[in-house]
Amino acid sequence: MCFAEKLISWYQANRRDLPWRRTSDPYHIWISEIMLQQTRVSAVVPYYLRFIRRLPDVPALAAVKDDELRKLWEGLGYYSRASNLKRAACCILSEFSGVFPSSEQDLLTLPGIGPYTAAAIASIAFGRPAAAVDGNVLRVWSRLREDARDLTSASVRKEIKKTLESILPADNPGEFNSAMMELGALVCLPNGAPVCASCPVASFCGACGAGTVSCFPSPRQKPERRVIDKTVFILRMQNEAPLVCRREEKGLLGGLWQFPDLPSHISEFEFLSYLSSHGLRPEGEILQYAKKHIFTHQEWNMRVYCVSVSGSLPEGWFPLAEEMPLPTAYRTCLPE
Ligand code: SF4
Repeated sequence: MCFAEKLISWYQANRRDLPWRRTSDPYHIWISEIMLQQTRVSAVVPYYLRFIRRLPDVPALAAVKDDELRKLWEGLGYYSRASNLKRAACCILSEFSGVFPSSEQDLLTLPGIGPYTAAAIASIAFGRPAAAVDGNVLRVWSRLREDARDLTSASVRKEIKKTLESILPADNPGEFNSAMMELGALVCLPNGAPVCASCPVASFCGACGAGTVSCFPSPRQKPERRVIDKTVFILRMQNEAPLVCRREEKGLLGGLWQFPDLPSHISEFEFLSYLSSHGLRPEGEILQYAKKHIFTHQEWNMRVYCVSVSGSLPEGWFPLAEEMPLPTAYRTCLPE
């Protein structure tokens, strides 16, 4: 058996049963692929099922209200992915007469769809001979070929994609792509711990044969994460839900709701004058504690003040309601 045959037959016998694998509907494949970016499979499943139930097709997604969309996405993070989904759905209606584009080229014109997602949709939903190259595939590749090049380089990725397309089975490109990704997720694991003894393509693997698996992919310096100090306020009026305000549309977590905050750590004395400058008075004990939230490129080091308050509601502040999407970074500040 050749490499592709071995890989695909292993995949067909060992793949995880995931809801988006039971369909070839391009809309479903697309939603799952966008949700799976930067998010674990087990975390995505309930989000995916709820999303598809509420927004079963492109017209439903194009028509959804922004706040409801953000609410469906709440907890997944990287909210720009959700707004790009809606923008792309509108594009499919206006530019493609509602017909889901099938070629990589057309898919790449849609907001939020990059080379990996375009190839995944084109191959899995439409059987197009496009290799989908994500982090899992690159890791497997670097070990198979003992490829020590910088895998973050666009030209290296392009070259790898081209080589994979030369071995992609014409009758089953989607299964091949899914199998490569599944091999990376289940067997050829990251951080130097692949399970080579259970690998269906070990006989084709350069690093396994040479005993150099731990050298691939070649380690690279990770950019440092920026640490940002913040003070976050959990303020309740008459024991209602904590007060929130709307974030600006642009930038990180744009358009979502947040607890009021300041971009540095402040003392309890400064907190009291902050309250008074907003026409509020503390009622009862002030709780103070620390919370942390880690994004890909930054880390929020948060000091939280939590107290009941009286006074008049500052403009633009509201008690948090069920339908208001609140990012995990802020939700994590609620007292335990
Ligand atoms: Fe990865 Fe080991 Fe398989 Fe090579 S043999 S592809 S290193 S799991």
